[in-house]
Amino acid sequence: MIRLEGVHKAYGGTHAALADVDLEIGRGEVFGIIGRSGAGKSTLVRLLNGLERPSAGRVLVDGIDVAVLGPPQLRSLRRRVGMIFQNFGLLSSRTVADNVALPLRIAGASASEIAAKVPALLERVGLAEHGDKYPAQLSGGQKQRVGIARALTTDPDILLCDEATSALDPETTRSVLALIADLNRELGLTIVLITHEMEVVRQVCDRVLVLHSGRVVETGSVADVFLHPQAAETRALIDEDGEHEAPIGFDGPIVRLTLHGQSVLDPVLTRIARETGTDFIILDGRIGRLKHGSFGRLTLGLLGGDTAAAIAALRNHGAVE
Ligand code: ADP
Repeated sequence: MIRLEGVHKAYGGTHAALADVDLEIGRGEVFGIIGRSGAGKSTLVRLLNGLERPSAGRVLVDGIDVAVLGPPQLRSLRRRVGMIFQNFGLLSSRTVADNVALPLRIAGASASEIAAKVPALLERVGLAEHGDKYPAQLSGGQKQRVGIARALTTDPDILLCDEATSALDPETTRSVLALIADLNRELGLTIVLITHEMEVVRQVCDRVLVLHSGRVVETGSVADVFLHPQAAETRALIDEDGEHEAPIGFDGPIVRLTLHGQSVLDPVLTRIARETGTDFIILDGRIGRLKHGSFGRLTLGLLGGDTAAAIAALRNHGAVE
């Protein structure tokens, strides 16, 4: 659905905003692009919706090279690529229903078409009762739902979410991400999520690409990248969630165990404890869900018994010391 081939973008400064970026996003995928501020995420968004052209390389949306499009084709591309933003981008002087109707008005839709479409979209995002309100009367999560409804008016194939949950608290973030996941499932929308938060990627993405200083440092399934990060930049983004903190006051052997899928439900620790006589102290850890399967990540202190045998058994389950 989206393909970047050797994309380079320089604004004239000393280093390029994007360099050698290759990426491929399949139809119906939820794809995360994560990186710190300055990584090149906004530049990538502007390339995808044709607001910028690459200095070198190609940006293809559904096989069409975005750089060669003239103004009319660019307008039709932008109808196929819905966008939502961190600051919602709503007009404060218009009601919720008018905000949602705006792209339809701009596209010259008739009053009857607007009257048929807007209530259905508001219903879809859970705001059926709020059409006559003004943005200032809504919570942040509701404002983003208006943004989503507005992005859906042109029946897009792709929804580009640019830090769409960054201004929201964790609980509201979860509910907006759940709505985005529903739209992906029910409408088959391809979703591109641009974020600096690994938690957002963990909750909804199928695959992820990590950007750092304009370069791709790592890409793969969320399970691979989140549970087995290869690049130091990726590990830093994960550690921001407060995981892998150094335990205080334990000076015995320590192992880190990562589990994914069915193995989360496998009583590995109690079995090894029984077999080796070693007790485990959980020093740090988390059990949770990815879009595909559960995961566990534990830092364990080993106490007594045959610790060498316990470590060997844990290694068989992928643990590292
Ligand atoms: P992010 O969205 O990840 O914070 P950006 O794409 O905004 O990253 O920026 C990547 C780099 O490109 C930064 O070094 C930024 O200063 C530079 N940059 C972005 N937009 C422009 C622009 N319009 N003109 C000049 N430099 C820019």
